[in-house]
Amino acid sequence: MADVLTIGGGLTGQAAAMLLARDGHHVTVLERDPAPPAASPEEAWAGWERRGVNQFRMLHYFLPRFREIAEVELPDVVAELDADGALRQNPLDGMPVEMSGGLRDDDRRFTVLTGRRPVVEAAVGRVTERTQGVEVRRGVAVQGLLPGNENAGRIPHVVGVVTDDGEELRADLVVDAGGRRSALPRLLSGIGAPDPVEERDDCGFVYYGRHFRSPDGSIPPAFGPGLMPYDSVSILTLPADNGTWGVGLVTSARDAELRATRDPEVWTRVVAAYPLVAHWLDGEPISDVEVMAKIEDRHRTFVVDGVPVATGVLALGDSWACTNPSVGRGASIGLLHACALRDTLRDVPPDDPVALATAWHAATTEVVEPYFRDTLAFDRHRLAEIDAQIAGVPYETDDPAWLLAQALANAAGKDPELLRGYLEIVSLLARGVDVLSRPGIADRALELGAEPAPFPGPSRAELLAIVAT
Ligand SMILES: Cc1cc2nc3c(=O)[nH]c(=O)nc-3n(C[C@H](O)[C@H](O)[C@H](O)COP(=O)(O)OP(=O)(O)OC[C@H]3O[C@@H](n4cnc5c(N)ncnc54)[C@H](O)[C@@H]3O)c2cc1C
Repeated sequence: MADVLTIGGGLTGQAAAMLLARDGHHVTVLERDPAPPAASPEEAWAGWERRGVNQFRMLHYFLPRFREIAEVELPDVVAELDADGALRQNPLDGMPVEMSGGLRDDDRRFTVLTGRRPVVEAAVGRVTERTQGVEVRRGVAVQGLLPGNENAGRIPHVVGVVTDDGEELRADLVVDAGGRRSALPRLLSGIGAPDPVEERDDCGFVYYGRHFRSPDGSIPPAFGPGLMPYDSVSILTLPADNGTWGVGLVTSARDAELRATRDPEVWTRVVAAYPLVAHWLDGEPISDVEVMAKIEDRHRTFVVDGVPVATGVLALGDSWACTNPSVGRGASIGLLHACALRDTLRDVPPDDPVALATAWHAATTEVVEPYFRDTLAFDRHRLAEIDAQIAGVPYETDDPAWLLAQALANAAGKDPELLRGYLEIVSLLARGVDVLSRPGIADRALELGAEPAPFPGPSRAELLAIVAT
């Protein structure tokens, strides 16, 4: 069993720490932010200071895949979330039978267990702190890596970290779960390691999001999917814990005219103009309109031409890759990645560091990379579509994957089988390519969904008039 140091105690770093500790490893989590997890949902929302995570109070939604994995792997976290008032909801409940075809035994897989990000992370944090074999040290930032002499000097090897106080901590394995702003390439270059291959680009989207609360703990009914595409904007409606929810406008960062929606009055006017969404404004606002732009799509490869850039350190969660978050996949992919780390360490111990680095690269490529690539492809198409809508021209592409995915989304309300296929994809329970390659699914989607079925809402010109009013 290994001594593991985790850089970063966010959602993924803590999940990994619990999973590894349950396998008998000893894990020390080093977290830059000093404040311990809040004791209650309201304290988490109102006062938990988490400067290390930019998006901490932005809209979040935890997909069915997150619940599915957590129920098997982290049941204590699920119990804590339930006790804290996290929302369990199934999109098929209350759906007209003509649409759903009636409830089926395995429809429970679509149930979410979700909440506001600080509330979910506080629950995860409290359970982590109670987990035997995990020590969480808060207010400790990692500034450097400690080099060792393994691999006969051929590949730089990491034997620990140096903290901002100059303390040297040694371990059999360092896991970087430092999130979007992880400094791993800089830390690696500090020990003479070559750069990982990094793909990095502004995702091109901007978010204008706001949270609400109902007086009676209820949640507005959903009259469409959680992410609804409209002419030049998408709208998020995300139910959360304890009678709260979030509403977000997502648009192109190039859309100068919609920047006025950072003003709460303009934002409210705009949201109110969409008939399937307007009722989500019927609550007490519990936040300002929070704006987040310059969100990067970033992906790192640490094994280049078959050779690890370094050993003894592995990248996990957003440190490895992150995308524009409108499809809400980051936490679920992070949890999947944390389970893959636990499984990889069952097969390859840290005392064979080259084999471990290579096995981790292979596991990452197999388990999570496909979801990253799918998300990137979806985002690129949607951004190009939004930019075309702003320019007033049709969006044209001959990418069959996008056209089929659109057809499936258009047809989901018309056929119970297609509906479940669509839900599997948006729940991260299956990839689009797998759903669409099932017998008859693609043909039926094209038959029923070739024509777009736009949600009712203002045209681009009407939207601009509403903004300018
Ligand atoms: C606007 C926005 C909305 C999102 N919405 C969703 C959503 O709806 N659903 C979803 O699943 N995902 C969503 N995501 C993605 C999700 O937030 C991330 O995927 C998730 O937080 C990744 O977890 P992590 O543990 O890898 O990183 P983080 O949660 O970022 O945690 C990293 C931690 O590392 C610490 N740290 C960093 N460097 C150091 C260091 N040197 N020393 C010590 N500590 C360090 C930080 O303080 C932080 O606590 C969203 C992201 C954004 C930007």
